[in-house]
Amino acid sequence: MSTPQPRPSVAAMPAYVAGKPPVERPGLVTYKLSSNENPYPPLDGVVEIAAEAAGRVNRYPDAGSTELYDALAKAYGVPAEELALSTGAVALIFQLVSAYCGPEDEVVFAWRSFEAYPIAVLAAGATAVKVPVTEGGRHDLDAMAAAITERTKVVFVCTPNNPTGTSVTQTELDAFLAKVPEHVLVVVDEAYAEFVRMDDAIDGIATYRSRANVVVLRTFSKAYGLAGFRVGYAFAPAPIAATLRAMALPFGVNVVAQAAGVASLERQAELLARVDDLVTERTRVVEGIRAAGWDIPDAQGNFVWFAFESAERCAEFAAAADEVGLVVRPYPPEGVRVSIGEAEANTRLIELAGSFP
Ligand code: PMP
Repeated sequence: MSTPQPRPSVAAMPAYVAGKPPVERPGLVTYKLSSNENPYPPLDGVVEIAAEAAGRVNRYPDAGSTELYDALAKAYGVPAEELALSTGAVALIFQLVSAYCGPEDEVVFAWRSFEAYPIAVLAAGATAVKVPVTEGGRHDLDAMAAAITERTKVVFVCTPNNPTGTSVTQTELDAFLAKVPEHVLVVVDEAYAEFVRMDDAIDGIATYRSRANVVVLRTFSKAYGLAGFRVGYAFAPAPIAATLRAMALPFGVNVVAQAAGVASLERQAELLARVDDLVTERTRVVEGIRAAGWDIPDAQGNFVWFAFESAERCAEFAAAADEVGLVVRPYPPEGVRVSIGEAEANTRLIELAGSFP
């Protein structure tokens, strides 16, 4: 008896590995800092509205997510036809690669960057072209531009970059886009956009609106604290947004997620004030770690990056974090990523940085 086989690229595809959950230990409160989640619970009003929507789950959700499209269009001042919602930004990544790439095509992205990119590329049977980040964990945009060939269909620019935390500036992005041929789709993955505090920060909306080949990805998972509901969205020129909507699984954004998304946009100011608090914590963490003697890169997301030279050192650091009740995310052999969490968790991280041999 023989089993049907998937395409070879799919057979070679690893499953996505999620951040480890904390293991409760007697006498020690443990914190999950392994998935760049928002440590704040959802706002009260959002939970109530989501709970009320859960009472309607015997019915399919609105297939067109009309209210959420309208709320996003209003919040960002863009036409709804330039938006595409999906089951997290990660689903949009898969939709983009499978819509624009086939087995003959190449997808360029920095490495390390978000682990879902190479998986989406394998799922489409395309070829991943990984361009190493600089020693400081930044995108090497010159090398990425040089890696573009006639076969390149998609380029991902992840900014802030997961897991190294560095951001591309608008000037750098503009210079890069000027070098990218028009047949190439540039996906600016701004999953952590709301956490960016820097001069010359990217204006994702203005960038996609002035070009025919730029898509900007955003999510409700990070700044909005709705990771468990799985809603992401893309800003794109109307024809690309239409393609993304056509590639979406029917009813992918569930009834509770739609309601929570609308409720969150109504409370955007309150949520963004929490983001400010997380950014203040991030500054405290970065300064504390640097004061302990580490040369860590600029952190523009809700996480910090410890670069190491070997898989062993990554494992040692993760084990030491585990000892003090912090679950972190090793990316051997390059480094370990740690999310900004509750104040107590952040303080423990600073202490760990000071004591790690
Ligand atoms: N892009 C980046 C850079 C990310 O780090 C993540 C989440 N880890 C995503 C996209 C996906 O976010 P979600 O699917 O939760 O919207």
